[in-house]
Amino acid sequence: MSVLVYVENAEGKFKKSTFEAVSYAKEVADKLNTNLVAISIGNVADATLADLGKYGANKVLFVSNEKLKTFVNQAYASIIASAAKTEDAKVVVLSASFSGKGLAPRIAVKLEAGLVDGAVELPEMTDGKFNVKKNAFSGKAFAHVELTSDRKIISLVPNSYKVVEKPVTAEITAFESTAAESDFQVMVREIVRASDKVSLPDAELVVSAGRGLKGPENWGMIEELANLLGAATACSKPVSDAGWRPHEEHVGQTGIAVSPNLYIAIGISGAIQHLAGVSSSKVIVVINKDAEAPFFKVADYGIVGDAFEVVPKLIEAIRKFKE
Ligand code: FAD
Repeated sequence: MSVLVYVENAEGKFKKSTFEAVSYAKEVADKLNTNLVAISIGNVADATLADLGKYGANKVLFVSNEKLKTFVNQAYASIIASAAKTEDAKVVVLSASFSGKGLAPRIAVKLEAGLVDGAVELPEMTDGKFNVKKNAFSGKAFAHVELTSDRKIISLVPNSYKVVEKPVTAEITAFESTAAESDFQVMVREIVRASDKVSLPDAELVVSAGRGLKGPENWGMIEELANLLGAATACSKPVSDAGWRPHEEHVGQTGIAVSPNLYIAIGISGAIQHLAGVSSSKVIVVINKDAEAPFFKVADYGIVGDAFEVVPKLIEAIRKFKE
C-alpha cells in the first residue's frame, strides 16, 4: 500500500502548489504509516526529481517522452491511474490547479475511487474513512465530505497547505507510459505566452482593482504596485466586462477563484460574487474611500481613503523599504 502524489511541472520545474501537494500527501502517508510515491510526467531533470525527497517522497516515478511533454489530459490521467494500481496507492493527491481539476475526476473514474475536489485541510481519518474539508459554492462555504471508498482521490486547493520539509532519499524510477493512442485525441500543439506576468491562479500575492479606479488609464499605479511586490494583477467583473482589463484577470464567482497569501483590493466594493472568489485569501487588505464598503467586513487590514492618494504613497513606501 502507498500514497501517490502527482507532481505537476511547468516547463520542467515544480511549482509551489506541487510541493504543497507533496507535503499534504506525505502527512497522509505518515498517518497511514506508509510510503509516499510521486509521479512526474513530462521532461524534468533528474536532480529536480530527486529534490522531491526533501519533502518526503520515498519514490519518484517519471514518465518522459516527446508526446507527453505538454499536458494531455486523457493520457496523463491514464498514466497516473495505472501508477496508482502498480503502487497499490489507496490515496492519490494532486493540486486543484487547472490541469489537476481536469485530471482528478478522470482518475477517479478509472480507479472507481471517491473524489474530493478542492480540499483545504488534511482529512480526519477513522476506520478507513476520510472526512475532508473542502471549498463549496465558489469558496462561500465549506463542506465536510466523507470518503468511504477503498481508493480515494483528493485535489488540494493551491495555497491552502504549507510546504513542509521531511527529508528522505528518493528512489528515482522510470515508469512506462500506459497511455493508449485513443488518449491523444486532444493535444496541445503550441503554447503562446500572453505575457511574462505572474500567473494569477498560482500567485501568492495579488493586487486587484475595481470600478473605483474610474478607467483603464489609471491602471499604471496598480501595475507598478504589483511589479514592486512581485504580485499578479486582478480585477472585478465590471472592470473586465468594460474591457478595462483582460478577462483572465476577473476574479470571483464567475471568474477565477484565488487563495493567495495576500490579496490587496483597491476600489472594489466587496460584492458577494466578488468575495466568492477571494475570501480564502490568507490576508486581505482593502483600500476604499467608503468606510461602509462591505469589503471591510472581511478585511484583515483596511485603509479608508482615496486610491489615487493611498496607492502612490504605498508605492513610495515600498520603494524606500526595498532600497
Ligand atoms: P462597484 O460596486 O462600483 O464598487 C466600486 C468601489 O470603489 C466602491 O466601493 C467605491 O466606494 C470605491 N471607490 C470609488 N472611488 C474610489 C476611490 N477613488 N478610491 C477608493 N475607492 C473608491 N463581480 C466580481 O467582481 N466577480 C464576479 O465573479 C462576479 N460575478 C457575478 C455574478 C453574478 C450572477 C452577478 C449578478 C454579479 C456578479 N458580479 C461579479 C458583480 C458584482 O455583483 C458587483 O457588481 C461587482 O463586483 C462590483 O464591482 P466593483 O466593486 O469593482 O464596482
